[in-house]
Parts: sequence; C-alpha cells; structure tokens
Amino acid sequence: MSELHKFVFDGLPVRGILVRLTDPWTEMLRRRASNSQSGAYPLPVQNLLGELLAAAALMQSNIKFDGALVVQVHGDGPVKLLVAEVQPDLSMRATATVTGVIEVDATLSSMVNQSNRGRCAITLDPKNRFPGQQPYQGVVPLFGDRGEKLERLSAVLEHYMLQSEQLDTCMLLAANGQVAAGLLVQRLPVQGAGNLAGATRANEGDIGRDEDYKRIALLASTVQKDELLSLDTDTLLRRLFWQEPLTRFAREANGPVPRFVCSCSRDKVGAMIVGLGAPEADSIIAEQGQIEVGCEFCGLQYRFDPIDAAQLFRAPAQTPVASRNPQ
Ligand SMILES: [Zn+2]
Repeated sequence: MSELHKFVFDGLPVRGILVRLTDPWTEMLRRRASNSQSGAYPLPVQNLLGELLAAAALMQSNIKFDGALVVQVHGDGPVKLLVAEVQPDLSMRATATVTGVIEVDATLSSMVNQSNRGRCAITLDPKNRFPGQQPYQGVVPLFGDRGEKLERLSAVLEHYMLQSEQLDTCMLLAANGQVAAGLLVQRLPVQGAGNLAGATRANEGDIGRDEDYKRIALLASTVQKDELLSLDTDTLLRRLFWQEPLTRFAREANGPVPRFVCSCSRDKVGAMIVGLGAPEADSIIAEQGQIEVGCEFCGLQYRFDPIDAAQLFRAPAQTPVASRNPQ
C-alpha cells in the first residue's frame, strides 16, 4: 500500500513528510516494460526516476497549491529527460527518455550531467489558469556552489527549496523496482503564516530554533536507503527520531491516496490516427501490418490491427445506412 504521512516535531518549528509509493510506481514500470519499442528502464534510470517521483510527491504535499507540480531533469548525457508529475489529489505519472547506453553503476552526473549543463526545472501549473497566465517555474543547476557536480538528486532539490522557499530542507530519497520512497524534513518559518504556536520575533529564539532543525535534519540524514524502502512508517520514525517527540497528522477521511493516472486512452489515440488521414494509416498498415502508438508519457502501447483501423475511418453515420442498403 502506498502511504504518505505528515508530522510535526512537538513545540519546534520543524515538520516532516514521509512517502512510500508502491502500486503507482510499479504500474509505471509495468507499462514501460511492456512497451516493445522502449523496453524496461535500465536499473540506474529506474531508481533515479523513482527518486524523482517520490520527491515530487513530497513537494506537492508540502505546499498548498491547486495545480500540478512537475519536476523535470533535462539531461546533457544519455538520459535526456526525466519527468514526474503529481496532482493535488496525489494522482501521478512519470517517464524518462533514454537515448544512450547506461552502465550498471551509472551515477547521476554520468546520466544527466556529463558537461555540467544538466538542469532541474520545477513547475507549478495552476489548475484554473486565467488567460495569459504562465505556470510558475524555477530552475536549478545540477552543480553546487563551487561548480561541483551533485551526485544526489536530493541535494539538487534541497538547493531549489532553499532558493525558492527560503526554507532549510533535508530530503532523503530511495527507489527500487517495487518502492519509491522519500523523507522530507523542513524548518518552518518562525514568523509568518506557517508558524506554530504563535510567532517569536526575538532573534535569539530563531537561533535556538536553528539548532533544533539542524539536530533533526542530522538524525534524518542517517536513514539508509534500504530502511526507507523496507521499514513501515512507525518503525522508521521511531528508529530515526526516538528522542524527539513528534505528532503525526491523521489522514483526512477521503484524503488523497497516491495513485497512478495517465490521461492517455485508446479513444484519444484513435482520434490521432484519424487525424493522420486514411492514406497515411493505410500505408503504415501496409508496411507494418498494424498501427502501434505508445503513450509518450506512460509508455503504454496501443495497437490497431487493419480491422480496428478500418473501423476508425468508418464514419458513424455510414453504419446504419450501409446495413439498410447493402449494395
Ligand atoms: Zn499514458
């Protein structure tokens, strides 16, 4: 079962989110693996995409925003693009475009940042955009302050969070073929809307709070990837933060549950084939025996054999006429 849990450290301006994605993640991998053109992701790409998906789920859950959150990595290596999209209701999808050979021990930079020109874009796309409104986008490089290549996706995103929200954030991510998981710990602003238990304006208060965040972030950073992937929420939180009283928020009744959704459908693909025109469709069938179209977002392949294709081009009104007057 996929889970997402939010928690706050009692009396401290530090909050956290823990996410474990199972069925939405394995469905994405299944669709990709079943695509006869692409085949399954190479393992390092699979794990990186899973981390990206877990991160997008954490970031979407961390903001109050009515629209899609999309995290894209534009690579300058054999992986050209990784995309994860998470909606406010936690429906999600993700994909990667691989154009070159991926070694089994490929690192983040060998896949997407060979010449330090890779970048990561985070887009917030409002659900009800008014005319002319652009989505909000922030872009961060895949290198650190001294130009050094970053080898953890989480470090890239921590940098983004600091830049965009001015909030210290610690993110831990892990993925394999069954689970995509992540832990986020963030320092809340001491002043302002996100504040807990009333504002303390004193600077000395802020300094103390800073220590609290640093201590908790340090505890969080000790988590091992296999712990993130295999431990249940209670066990994991107890193991990491047993000295730190924390309160878990109960999931709202009918609250969002992470799930896979792709907007592709056989009808949409059929309409696209009709858009190509009958001569073009006929020539594809003559050449390949069928028309095969893969969803570029989830990898699912839709196949239309000659009879399916002929049906697409038979205008609905012709059917009854033909049956009444079979000449
Ligand atoms: Zn799709």
